[in-house]
Amino acid sequence: MTVYFDNAATTPLDPEVLDAMLPFMRDHFGNPSSIHGHGRQVRAAIENARKSIAHLINAAPAEIVFTSCGTEADNYAAFGSVRTLGLKHMITSRLEHHAVLHTTQALEKCGDAQLSYLRHDAQGRLDLAHLEELLAMNPRTFVSLMHANNEIGNLNDIAAIGEICARHDAVFHTDTVQTMGHYKHDVQALKTHFLVGSAHKFHGPKGVGFLYRRSGQNLEALIHGGSQERNQRAGTENVYGIVGLAKALEIAYRDMAAHQRHIQGLKDRFIERLRAEIEDVQFNGTSAEAEHSLYTVLSVSLPPSSMNEMLLFNLDINHISVSGGSACTSGAQAGSHVLQALGADPDRGTIRFSMSKYNTVEEVDYAVEQLAKMFRKEPLKV
Ligand code: PLP
Repeated sequence: MTVYFDNAATTPLDPEVLDAMLPFMRDHFGNPSSIHGHGRQVRAAIENARKSIAHLINAAPAEIVFTSCGTEADNYAAFGSVRTLGLKHMITSRLEHHAVLHTTQALEKCGDAQLSYLRHDAQGRLDLAHLEELLAMNPRTFVSLMHANNEIGNLNDIAAIGEICARHDAVFHTDTVQTMGHYKHDVQALKTHFLVGSAHKFHGPKGVGFLYRRSGQNLEALIHGGSQERNQRAGTENVYGIVGLAKALEIAYRDMAAHQRHIQGLKDRFIERLRAEIEDVQFNGTSAEAEHSLYTVLSVSLPPSSMNEMLLFNLDINHISVSGGSACTSGAQAGSHVLQALGADPDRGTIRFSMSKYNTVEEVDYAVEQLAKMFRKEPLKV
């Protein structure tokens, strides 16, 4: 059996998405900036994709800017906000993806704005009273706090964070790369200025994403050149990527309830079976709390063992693809900044199982079995 449990890294392309993209790879090759028929046909496909995405998140089409990935969208929001709006203070957390952490750190290094880190507890729950405190001391702040953590799956209350930011007139960006296509976002209900999507996290193609930019937040472009994307992002558009992105999001919204039920069922089974088979198994962050974690991610903390160095290798030779993570920086893998920030025990091993609509109960049972073999106590010889 070959099993793919690394869907937070990337997901397989949905065949329906491929079908939607193929005509734009094969037949409709015009440059969307050309004014002739070949160009106009392709321009129409881009604008339809924009309308469709905007409709799904309850935004206006002009608020959607296509980018090359989630990382670019995060960079655009942070650089654009700080530089265009002249914000002198940023708040983020040490649990963010590097797309936000390294970007805000780069802005601080350039001297554009000062960076503050929000406190969190050992489970990675953010201290929102600290957010109030920091904002009260620093007006005109750029706040970047993710919706769901890609390593441990913690879900942050972005509705509550948005309310706090609005009270203090802060600009709020939330990295929704791991939740776009898995939850329904409504930008009219959320007090957020920016949201991010990356197609390859919800069965779309790699190399395309978007930034939702609330109208009124006009930002200086990150990439300069032509007038594409209404002067907000230069460069000839990734047409079939954009078509695939919109199709993937439409499918995700269409089938969301059924997929959520299916994947949460797999996660519950994982938790139950791991607890039954492995002594002292734990779960990082709020990963095992259904209410407070992303249903696609389970971050498993394994007891100290000589097996931990070889975890990923042993699963890989049994044809199971997962991601790891460790609180220490030595060894075969680079350490995880998230586990380090949580103060996780460096002697314990971590595996992130991340699931999609394509995974099955049999795959969960097979993965637990392989893991249990490594950690099961040897029967006493008499
Ligand atoms: N933000 C989060 C939370 C992610 O998980 C990822 C990718 O893993 C990114 C940003 C970057 O997205 P992309 O791969 O589209 O650049």
